[in-house]
Amino acid sequence: MEIIKITPRGFCKGVVDAWAIAKKARSEYPNHKIFMIGWLVHNKDMIEEVSKYGIETMDDTNIDRLSIIKQIVKENDKDKIVIIFSAHGTDYKAIDYAISKNIIFYDGTCEYVYKTHDLIKKKIKEKKIIFYIGVKKHPEAIATKCINEDKIIVIEKIDDVKLLEKDYVNKEIFITNQTTMSLYDFFHLTKYIKNHFKNVEFKNDTCLAAYERQKAIIDIDDNVDLLIIVGDKKSNNSNKMVEVGLKMNIESYLVENENDLNYDWFKNKRKVAISSGASTPTWTTNKIIKLIENISIRD
Ligand code: SF4
Repeated sequence: MEIIKITPRGFCKGVVDAWAIAKKARSEYPNHKIFMIGWLVHNKDMIEEVSKYGIETMDDTNIDRLSIIKQIVKENDKDKIVIIFSAHGTDYKAIDYAISKNIIFYDGTCEYVYKTHDLIKKKIKEKKIIFYIGVKKHPEAIATKCINEDKIIVIEKIDDVKLLEKDYVNKEIFITNQTTMSLYDFFHLTKYIKNHFKNVEFKNDTCLAAYERQKAIIDIDDNVDLLIIVGDKKSNNSNKMVEVGLKMNIESYLVENENDLNYDWFKNKRKVAISSGASTPTWTTNKIIKLIENISIRD
């Protein structure tokens, strides 16, 4: 069995920057309690790494970020705490609250996320309604929607769009997207919207890292019959890489750690390609590559 290690894979610049910000916060405030609001990046190994620096990650799955910060302030001396905002972006109300309370904070939001926010703000000023292609429960989509709840509509699938046709068919629509969406999703949904609404403008805002990782799968050797993406189940960009592999008719799986590897997948396979999401540390990917190489030797 031949093994192809796809490049680029693993950490993107946004993740490297966010990780550097977390370490900077610890070195500048060695004796403060530091709280990460949301997962720094969507990867459990990275959350463990963050905790080694004495930084407590506050999960934002079931509670909004403003409420998390208010709770932290209630339970701690606000002059002895530091807050870090994750790479995905944060509701501006939460950031404003931190400012109003003079809380020391570091913003790990990726520059690509802010670029999309700026674009959306500009289009809202031009009186457009924003159709934002994203994952409704993902922190990036939640933070983006908080820019203007009334003007931004998050869309995941065609059925979401169908519900909007009656009220928005004559409105001026601007389509853009969460930075880590699949290129296929964007073009499929945009094509549908353009065909069913009268005034539509769009810009694909997939970030460079997600684009390059997906494009490398699209350009993969025709003979690859198995694709393994190493990434956390929470990681949107990793999940989308798997979806791209499936669209290319390649048997594709997301593997978070060695326990997810199913040895039956490798039976009778000639070429397996391996890549990893933008938030997956190299050491996690290398561990999986080693295990797959051992299967290959046994073959
Ligand atoms: S995947 Fe893209 S948007 Fe997310 S942190 Fe990396 S560069 Fe930024």
